[in-house]
Amino acid sequence: MYKDDTPTSSNLTLTSENISKFALQVGFNACAVAPVHRLDDDAEFMDCWIAQGLHGEMDYLERNCDKRYDPALLVPGAQAVVVCLLSFEHSGRDYHRRVKSMLYTLEAQLKEAFGEDIVSSTHQHIFCDSAPILERRWCVEAGLGFIGKNHQFIHPTLGSMVHPGEIIINKPLPISNTPYPISALCADCRLCLDACPTGALRNNVWDATQCIAYTTHHCLECQLICPFNL
Ligand code: SF4
Ligand code: SF4
Repeated sequence: MYKDDTPTSSNLTLTSENISKFALQVGFNACAVAPVHRLDDDAEFMDCWIAQGLHGEMDYLERNCDKRYDPALLVPGAQAVVVCLLSFEHSGRDYHRRVKSMLYTLEAQLKEAFGEDIVSSTHQHIFCDSAPILERRWCVEAGLGFIGKNHQFIHPTLGSMVHPGEIIINKPLPISNTPYPISALCADCRLCLDACPTGALRNNVWDATQCIAYTTHHCLECQLICPFNL
């Protein structure tokens, strides 16, 4: 599909488009880049959400907040977040291993094409559900999709059944796309709100203490009903 457009490792310009081409070549379904900045709105929202106890047993969210809101504190020299998406159907059972393996392959290609100093040599800079980083928000910041009323990240064509992975790089890049606002493409739909069996999505807030997925890990109702996943 991208055969004629496949980047080679010599004399390439460092652009978001070329990074995305490498990512698609590695097997990701989508990729885009967001410039690093502090997520002020998310910091305010999450501090309030945690203060109300709506994060339930996820005590880890109370720690490393400064790093979670600002990748420049997580990875010294951070300039941009490369966000990659892998659909559930391509990830297999152990999606952590699969996504991370693909990110390491992508990293090697980026180093070869753009220099070893494109990433930190001293700090962890590859993430998949594993560090204080607001993954869904960076998916949005990169312009890959929006947060739906079900509080899931939704890609317009891949839906919400995607695993994100990130590489934080230490070279500046322009933004790939303009971020979508919250619920951008939900319009008047409220199927997920009506389908939730516990009321965990009441009042435009996701209440983890009421969410079955966070107690038994066996609920996808608010995603299965979503038209973007059909
Ligand atoms: S995962 Fe289930 S319980 Fe949790 S918000 Fe979605 S529908 Fe509600
Ligand atoms: S089910 Fe409807 S309201 Fe809920 S996230 Fe999907 S499109 Fe948005």
